[in-house]
Amino acid sequence: MSELKTKALSTAHRDLMEAVSFLKNGHLVAFPTETVYGLGGDARNNSAAARIFTAKNRPSFNPLIVHTTSIKEAVRYAYFNDVAKCLAMAFWPGALTLVLPLRPKHGLSAIVTSHLPSVGIRVPSHPIAQSLLAKFDGPIAAPSANHSGKISSTTAEHVLNDLSGKIAAVIDGKACTIGIESTIVQCDNSQTVILRPGGISKNTIETVLQRKLTHFSSPETISSPGQLRSHYAPCAGLRLNVYSAQKYESHLGFAKINGNLNLSRNGCLKEAANNLFAYLHELDALRRPIAVAPIPKIGIGIAINDRLTRAATPAQ
Ligand code: AMP
Ligand code: MG
Repeated sequence: MSELKTKALSTAHRDLMEAVSFLKNGHLVAFPTETVYGLGGDARNNSAAARIFTAKNRPSFNPLIVHTTSIKEAVRYAYFNDVAKCLAMAFWPGALTLVLPLRPKHGLSAIVTSHLPSVGIRVPSHPIAQSLLAKFDGPIAAPSANHSGKISSTTAEHVLNDLSGKIAAVIDGKACTIGIESTIVQCDNSQTVILRPGGISKNTIETVLQRKLTHFSSPETISSPGQLRSHYAPCAGLRLNVYSAQKYESHLGFAKINGNLNLSRNGCLKEAANNLFAYLHELDALRRPIAVAPIPKIGIGIAINDRLTRAATPAQ
């Protein structure tokens, strides 16, 4: 692929209109969302969708999440059963992705959905993501703006370090507020299952639904091909649940275990999620293996542990 000059855009109206014009022409624009930076392309355009897979070097069987401005727009593409309606009303706009059966004549590129009969949809709450979607006036497919299998981007700088020359532009909307990807829930008439833990905890979802959900699908049994076991991987390797690191390692601390960087000195899991990818990027730049302190497996700590476990798994 020939190198592009990736443009750094601001959040000013003129720059957002330039981003829209890139998108309308099938080019890719990275933009901030409340979870992580997304790598956006027109979800109805096959060549834009193909460009996303090429830029990220993402396996074609791993479907992309489609972003829309509202529930009303999302309903044009997918069937919402009562559970899906309830979750969308409770959590959209926000860090929840629903995997739902596609409607006929949905108009989305089959490359986006990896030719599956379902689609992952999210309405993001970030004001710049919302403004871009409104101005573009259509669905934007957007996986995280990083090379497949590597650490997700939570700032425009991370995006440029990873994808400069491969995408048309990035909109700099400052650091993401949640800092970890959306929770993915599959809802169809046979099941409601959490495919990936994320920004909204299982407990919070269960409280809204007033029932317990089955445990997260394990990567071995998952119906979606996207839950790859090795993901978010730093270059030099990563070890989990480490109280004191070896000399050759960088130590990522949590609470009282200090380390070279501390995800949250006062043990706040929300703060830890917010710092996770930025600190992994920072330590990864030192090209030393990373040892990570234990993180409690409760609330958003479940999503943090999910990402760390995948980051610790070597690519096959
Ligand atoms: P990300 O890698 O953050 O872009 O998240 C994409 C993930 O969403 C995929 O890896 C799947 O787990 C899930 N997903 C998206 N679309 C679908 C779909 N049509 N069917 C099942 N899972 C999906
Ligand atoms: Mg990703």
